[in-house]
Amino acid sequence: MWKVLTPRKIVFGENAAKKFEYPKNSLVITTTTPDIYNKWLDYMEIKNYEIYDKATPDPAIETVEAIRQEYEGKKNISAYVGLGGGSSMDVCKYLGKITGIPKILIPTTFGTGAEMTTYAVISFEHKKKLLQDEAFLADAAIVDPYFLPGTPFNIMRNSACDACAQASEGYDSKLGNPFTKLFCREAFDILEDAIINDKPSLLPYGAMLSGIGFGNSSTTLGHALSYVFSNEGIPHGYSLSSCTTVAHKFNRSIYYERFKKICQKLKFDPLKLKQPLDQAADVIMPDRGHLDNNPIPVTKQDVIKCLDGIVNQNPLA
Ligand SMILES: [Zn+2]
Repeated sequence: MWKVLTPRKIVFGENAAKKFEYPKNSLVITTTTPDIYNKWLDYMEIKNYEIYDKATPDPAIETVEAIRQEYEGKKNISAYVGLGGGSSMDVCKYLGKITGIPKILIPTTFGTGAEMTTYAVISFEHKKKLLQDEAFLADAAIVDPYFLPGTPFNIMRNSACDACAQASEGYDSKLGNPFTKLFCREAFDILEDAIINDKPSLLPYGAMLSGIGFGNSSTTLGHALSYVFSNEGIPHGYSLSSCTTVAHKFNRSIYYERFKKICQKLKFDPLKLKQPLDQAADVIMPDRGHLDNNPIPVTKQDVIKCLDGIVNQNPLA
């Protein structure tokens, strides 16, 4: 038996965010600044809304609680609209769960597929926690390529790499099933076409399919390896360029060569790690959520070998 969860409503393609009928008294939550979001709101033609723009990247539970207190019982908020990157959407997901108010998620940076998934990252006592709950699913997810132009190249490149890693790791995951594999395969094909043949307008749709695919299976060794680099300040998507390449080689993934070519096209530099490999492996090994779903078993020696391949043998050369 397999179970697949998706948002109640998925609206995508050109003008998706413009034509959507937003409920009156929506609360738009964003991490961006008025010069940027005012243009977005004009485009969306949203009326009668409140805006909360004090959400910060890597949102803490205190932010969620602050928003709840600011509006609960005072303004009759009918829906939350998460507009922006993963952080804006994560705040909405958590708020929606604790208040029961519907949530509409609109990604403006494409790659995480967060608008499709049951995952949210919220910090508790300064520690990021990856949470999963069916209540985090969007009531509506709106994927519109309108928001893509103007995204700095570095952000776009990191997001594109994340989406490709998620699609291909999700395909290989032990939790995969025929439905998730269908989505992961299609997502990877579209993302590859977008990157290799310079068609960036395809990225949002590819990332969306990847979100459905990996969100109902899991990511694996590539993501497990990447967090020690993230902990040293390297962006998530950039860490995955070398980590997922090496993981795919270890797993003999059908996506190894294609993923590597994508990373070469995006011109990622090799990664460095400050801490000793043995110490990093000790941080990685307890990450059972990723490692247990890897298609083949992984020992600490395997992890050290992979890290050595990442740091000392430029896997993208
Ligand atoms: Zn990821």
